[in-house]
Amino acid sequence: MRPLPELTAENTAFWTGGADGKLIIAFCKDCAAAIHPPQLVCPKCWCEEIENKSVPGTGSVYSYTVNHQPWAPDMKVPFAIAVVDVDGAPGVRVTAEVINADLDSITIGQQMRVCFMNVDDVWFPQWEPVR
Ligand SMILES: [Zn+2]
Repeated sequence: MRPLPELTAENTAFWTGGADGKLIIAFCKDCAAAIHPPQLVCPKCWCEEIENKSVPGTGSVYSYTVNHQPWAPDMKVPFAIAVVDVDGAPGVRVTAEVINADLDSITIGQQMRVCFMNVDDVWFPQWEPVR
């Protein structure tokens, strides 16, 4: 069982967007910077006007690892974690588990799309290869 993130004013949109099938990223209303992890103040211009917007939910693999160590007793191995450059949110990378993939076939630059796993009131993003 994975630990659940604590939902806060700044991150609730990100962790619950999956309820509507949407990857939600915070953007600065002033300078349009995409902000991740979400914050209430823009780290680029200190503007406090932040808006949450859905992005297409696709991206490309920046890096990944295939893990063979079960870090928790009921964890299934092997599993892959990918850091994905998110389309529509320049500079934002979302790190998540890769599902529905042949783990030996994951490559840098591979196109992924987001899907979600719901646990309680959190929707964890997961990456799935675009076929
Ligand atoms: Zn800004």
